[in-house]
Amino acid sequence: MTTQERYIAKIKPYLFPFKYNQKAFRDGNGYVFACPLCSHAQEKESKRKEKCAALYPLAGSFQWVFNCSRGCNGGKGNDKCSRPMRFDSFLQAWNPPLYRQYSREKEVAKRLRSTGSLGPEDFRSRPRVGVSSQCS
Ligand SMILES: [Zn+2]
Repeated sequence: MTTQERYIAKIKPYLFPFKYNQKAFRDGNGYVFACPLCSHAQEKESKRKEKCAALYPLAGSFQWVFNCSRGCNGGKGNDKCSRPMRFDSFLQAWNPPLYRQYSREKEVAKRLRSTGSLGPEDFRSRPRVGVSSQCS
């Protein structure tokens, strides 16, 4: 599981806790939910609850994308959601303290990968068994 996926699981109970929030997108399953960036600016209750926002994976990029259809269409209160954005930017716009925590964890994961204490290097350094022992 990537740091990003862990944080999506973390915000799930707040933003998209229900079965009806799940939706199949082109590149995999994602979520639709009330936009946390512009819902508060809507006057009608029904508009506030409208599932105009989506969070979905982008194939081959290991990135999730946030997109608010109301924001993109110039809806009310869209100063933060007028454009689609990567998960990182969405988290930063919605919950800055959580975003700071997320950035720190991502940094640590990156460092671990680059020093080779995680990942395929571990397997390569294992002693070889096989060919020679079979011949004896
Ligand atoms: Zn929005």
